[in-house]
Amino acid sequence: MNDYLIFILALLVFNWLLSLIVETLNLKNASTEIPGEFVGIYDDEKYAKSQRYLKDTTKFDLVQSAVMLPLTIAFILLGGFSWMNDIAQNTAQSMILQGLVFGGILMLIGQIIGLPFSIYSTFVIEEKFGFNKTTPKTFIADIFKSLLLTVLLGAPIFALILWIFSSVPYAWLWAWAALSIIQLFILFIAPVVILPLFNKFTPLEEGELRSAIEKFAAEQKFTLSGIFKIDGSKRSTKSNAYFTGFGNTKRIALFDTLIENHSTEELVGVLAHEVGHCKRGHIKKTILISMASTLLMFFILSLFISKPGLYAAFGIDGTPLYAGLIFFGFLYAPINMILGLLGTILSRKHEFEADAFAAETTREPTHLISALKKLSVDNLSNLTPHPLKVFLEYSHPPVLDRIKALRKFEG
Ligand SMILES: [Zn+2]
Repeated sequence: MNDYLIFILALLVFNWLLSLIVETLNLKNASTEIPGEFVGIYDDEKYAKSQRYLKDTTKFDLVQSAVMLPLTIAFILLGGFSWMNDIAQNTAQSMILQGLVFGGILMLIGQIIGLPFSIYSTFVIEEKFGFNKTTPKTFIADIFKSLLLTVLLGAPIFALILWIFSSVPYAWLWAWAALSIIQLFILFIAPVVILPLFNKFTPLEEGELRSAIEKFAAEQKFTLSGIFKIDGSKRSTKSNAYFTGFGNTKRIALFDTLIENHSTEELVGVLAHEVGHCKRGHIKKTILISMASTLLMFFILSLFISKPGLYAAFGIDGTPLYAGLIFFGFLYAPINMILGLLGTILSRKHEFEADAFAAETTREPTHLISALKKLSVDNLSNLTPHPLKVFLEYSHPPVLDRIKALRKFEG
């Protein structure tokens, strides 16, 4: 066994053990007593239901990772990648086409293994708790649309990166520049080209809500290029709101399920939070940080991409670039995890800042607080996650922490 292989296997096992520990701690942290803020909002029965939901989804995640770990290790040790490489080399002549075959097989395997889990999660767990609205037709259409996007966007990008790494000096720098431009372009077109493939965006109708949102935006000198209602109810009763795009494709999208269950004041509170993300420069910052971390990744990739040991670890003779890009992903996982951790720390800080912006600009935090409470109850969110789980995975602070911070703005 070579050093790369030992390192990668140890990493896979370590990650699995870590998630096992975190999830166990998280389950133990659930308390049957309703937290003070939620007394009167949750009744005992619904609160117990939220805890059953936590248990079921956690168990599901643990089973999935317990299946994926041995499958991944067996695939590596039994020469799965070398088998894929043989197919790629027998199918195509050029390295780039071989890469597309190799990547395509890997994607199909991933899809096939993921499918039963995805079906179970949507049609058994989400169904059991009354969230699921996805019809089998929508479910299948979603799979094909995602595959189509992967083929139309993913394949050319993968081919471009392969071409750069096989023909251009300082490939890591050029690959980074090319990918960054493409990512910005995708972010720009996503709201008008990609997202409408999955959801229907309807301009929010004239009326009390639209006027209230426009009044708030005008007060904040915030140009909204579109306020849309999207049909989240097509897939789930869970609700959400988000901003997409930037520049003149910038849109606010409110789930129909959110609009249904919240008052106008609460919705303006939610919108103010989203506007806060823009006004405080969070979106720009996040894009810049992601570009910087991509640069780091490509640089480290350039150090390992021609090491025969990395390929030998996966049973491959020679150094076919397309396989190296995939193998590097295994090697890079720890750095990726650390960067991801820093990213979630920053994201939680941004959430507090956006909440503070909403509290200051709407002059009272009450409505955002009640919106957050309703969202938690409607989505059966875990109110008492374990601090380690929050530290490792939460992009948003736990709702009780957000409410506590918002209460400080009460007049
Ligand atoms: Zn936010």
